[in-house]
Amino acid sequence: MSEPTVFERIAAGEIPATKVFESDRVLGIRDIAPKAPVHLLLFPKAADYANVTELAAGDPALLAELVAAAQQLADEHTGGQYRLVFNTGAEAGQTVFHVHAHVLGGGLTEASL
Ligand code: 5GP
Repeated sequence: MSEPTVFERIAAGEIPATKVFESDRVLGIRDIAPKAPVHLLLFPKAADYANVTELAAGDPALLAELVAAAQQLADEHTGGQYRLVFNTGAEAGQTVFHVHAHVLGGGLTEASL
């Protein structure tokens, strides 16, 4: 078996994180190294999908749940407007191969991911 991803370990309570959203299948946390005034992460608790393309093909309802959660977090943290980023592939900046959405807001610059 492969090593658990950092997000699986956070979902299991093995690594501390500041939770901002939780449902049966999805967790939302604050990014440990924020690149915008509001920088939150949303991901499925299970590491079944490495990236958004796999998630969209394998479980579109779960992808829709992530997007709905992103809107909820934006409503709560950034006045409802936000940038949703799924880095896909190492050359595009993906470092954790457990699909996750970056929810960015609160005064974005072009350099915010
Ligand atoms: P990626 O580069 O794969 O698109 O995004 C991974 C994100 O996870 C990065 O923005 C990074 O700061 C964040 N991250 C990595 N490890 C941890 C951690 O242990 N806790 C939290 N809260 N965020 C993390």
